[in-house]
Amino acid sequence: MPAEILTIPCLADNYAYLLHDPETGDTALVDAPDSGPVLAALGERGWRLGQILITHHHWDHVDGVEALRKATGARVLGAAADAHRLPPLDQALQPGDSVALGGEKGVVIDVPGHTIGHIAFHFPETGAVFTADSLMALGCGRLFEGTPAQMWESLGRLAALPDDTLVCSGHEYTESNARFALTIEPENPALQARAREIAERRAQGQPTVPSRLGEELATNPFLRAGEPAIRARLGMENAPDVEVFAEIRRRKDSF
Ligand code: ZN
Ligand code: FE
Repeated sequence: MPAEILTIPCLADNYAYLLHDPETGDTALVDAPDSGPVLAALGERGWRLGQILITHHHWDHVDGVEALRKATGARVLGAAADAHRLPPLDQALQPGDSVALGGEKGVVIDVPGHTIGHIAFHFPETGAVFTADSLMALGCGRLFEGTPAQMWESLGRLAALPDDTLVCSGHEYTESNARFALTIEPENPALQARAREIAERRAQGQPTVPSRLGEELATNPFLRAGEPAIRARLGMENAPDVEVFAEIRRRKDSF
């Protein structure tokens, strides 16, 4: 049975996600920017937190872990590669490992780039992938530790998931991402329409996440390095995709 997904705004612009299996009551949290909003959401619904899944070591994704562990007794799972800089793990995960939520198996996907140990969690039955600061709505995370080639490969792994997959990413950066995307592909009608929709949602104070993978493939410049219009605009008609991606990432860094 597909899990219910709850998007929880935390801190200034972070998102945590609760996954809840209605059949067994199993509940998992993806990332813990802060404990207060998560405990409030659990309390409102009467859900009991069983596990905390960590995507990467940055403070704005793990700061609430210890308080939540104390308050709920939840188990904490994160990348084995980053165990030395994550809160203490009850289970260290390797790429390809699975995590259980009710009867569903979530798959751990290696997505280095933003950080080296960054992982994503794909729940195929629910149809959702939790990407934090790898693939984001109309964007991708800044390359603090990895190379453009690593991030390009990571995005490729995510792009290969089914088109209707919900992309649950870690931040509300979409409005500024849209402004940047329009500098890379101003003539893309799907992007123009999405930018308008995002502006409307933000004006109403609504989150722009999760998004659908299909709409990311159609509008997110970081997934579209192969597009002839983008390559022409950047004067990189004959460059390998990864170099076009690297150029788009460089431009975003100074946008
Ligand atoms: Zn981060
Ligand atoms: Fe972050």
